[in-house]
Amino acid sequence: MHILNFIGGEWVSAAGGKTFQSFNPADTRQIVATVALSGTEDVDRATAAARKAFPAWRGMPAPRRGEILFRAGELLSREKGRLGELVTREMGKVSAEGLGDVQEAIDIAFYMAGEGRRLQGETVPSELPGKDCKSLRAPLGVVALITPWNFPIAIPAWKIFPALICGNTVILKPSSDTPACAAALVELLEKAGIPPGVVNLVHGSGEMAGEYLTTHPEVNAVSFTGSSIVGEKLEGMLGKIHRPMATEMGGKNAIIIMDDADLTLALEGVLWGGFGTTGQRCTAASRLVIHEKIYDRFVEMLAEAAARLRLGDGLEEDTDVGPIINERQQQKVLEYIRTGVSEGARLVTGGKPVTTGACAHGYFIEPTVFADVTPTMRIAREEIFGPVVSAIKCADLDEAISIVNDVGYGLSSAIYSRDVNKTARAEHDLETGIVYVNASTIGAEIQLPFGGWKHSGSGHPEAGGRGGAIDFYSRVKVVYRDFSGKLQRAQIDK
Ligand code: NAP
Repeated sequence: MHILNFIGGEWVSAAGGKTFQSFNPADTRQIVATVALSGTEDVDRATAAARKAFPAWRGMPAPRRGEILFRAGELLSREKGRLGELVTREMGKVSAEGLGDVQEAIDIAFYMAGEGRRLQGETVPSELPGKDCKSLRAPLGVVALITPWNFPIAIPAWKIFPALICGNTVILKPSSDTPACAAALVELLEKAGIPPGVVNLVHGSGEMAGEYLTTHPEVNAVSFTGSSIVGEKLEGMLGKIHRPMATEMGGKNAIIIMDDADLTLALEGVLWGGFGTTGQRCTAASRLVIHEKIYDRFVEMLAEAAARLRLGDGLEEDTDVGPIINERQQQKVLEYIRTGVSEGARLVTGGKPVTTGACAHGYFIEPTVFADVTPTMRIAREEIFGPVVSAIKCADLDEAISIVNDVGYGLSSAIYSRDVNKTARAEHDLETGIVYVNASTIGAEIQLPFGGWKHSGSGHPEAGGRGGAIDFYSRVKVVYRDFSGKLQRAQIDK
């Protein structure tokens, strides 16, 4: 598959003619795509195309923009099977999750299409006679979108659809690990009738094309999802040039399991949250804070269940856990496992790369569980982004909440308990943007805001429904209309 840039409504090679490749992480002998490697000239062209298309797109009534997004949602639904398979081939997640990735894009397309008829501001009474007071939503202009590889269709869609419905034009720079998925999404947007220049796609390295794009003078705002290290670097750079930016970054999410919890349910939540998407979710459950009365029993249940998970190609029906995205990430996860051992944590299952059978040609790591982890260990504080779960013991709910909160991240947390007072306390006191009760740390829905606190995000969610994406991708203009026909002194001194 040969993947080009999409600029001003045309599929074009990179100006320098260079390319790079994306691979199937379950079998790296399979090249998924050969892709345009963009430089500054390509970014210049994309920003110029987006700027040119902005006035007409902004001028199109929002309900008409919504109709185009609705068609995109229909095309995504029709192509869900094909796209889901591509997600698994290029990113590695198992088939059901690949399809789920596409389903999120479908959901956000239909949701945002409807928002085209609801982009409301406010009308409030004036303090003066003969005067109206209202606020309107206006687009930001040209928005640069930088996305990671772990939700290669869903995350670009979470950004593109709300940005478009608000009247912005966009340039997407997707992860270099999953360019074919991004291109497949943009192809469907083109088919849905998005006018030339409204959506542009530029492939290439984050450090080069990505950084140049985010700081480009023609760009009005930036939405970034990825690691905290890159996001915070960009926040520093863009703060200096006063450019609005939303960041969705890393996590160190935790599940509290109290002594009155339904342990079978909690186990299911831990397996799904810890090892789903091979632990490569920003909301992955990488810490368990378990009440001392059930600690040993639960760790034993978890170790047994984790050891039974089957690794392999996500397209095979019996695979539970797919590969790690690339070799660099695999090495990073293995390094964390060595760190855990050297810090004195007890490795109860897993811990090794898998290099035989169905896993012989990919980047696989055994589902790994550490017990006797203390809150100060690095494996309990830093994002690992792989199939590694750390079990920490607690004496009561107060201690559990303080352990969960005592990290730099604040994305997602969960509590399993049958005591309504305990779960209510947790809802109030957990310092994360998302809290789950008797459910795992994953499973957010698109109609509510999605975003992290502390080093997990800029604090204002740019994903999800109103209060999230619509608020980020539009800015407010306040209009006072005086129809009294005279200078009202009260305007000077009320
Ligand atoms: P990453 O290395 O930070 O990369 C994210 C994106 O930024 C990629 O498109 C990357 O391009 C680009 N990039 C890298 N350096 C850049 C720079 N200097 N300027 C501009 N762009 C740059 O993250 P990742 O490994 O793809 O994704 C995993 C991370 O994303 C994890 O930390 C995870 O928690 C986080 N994440 C957060 C959320 C959330 O909603 N909070 C959701 C999903 C993932 P290249 O691919 O070319 O390097």
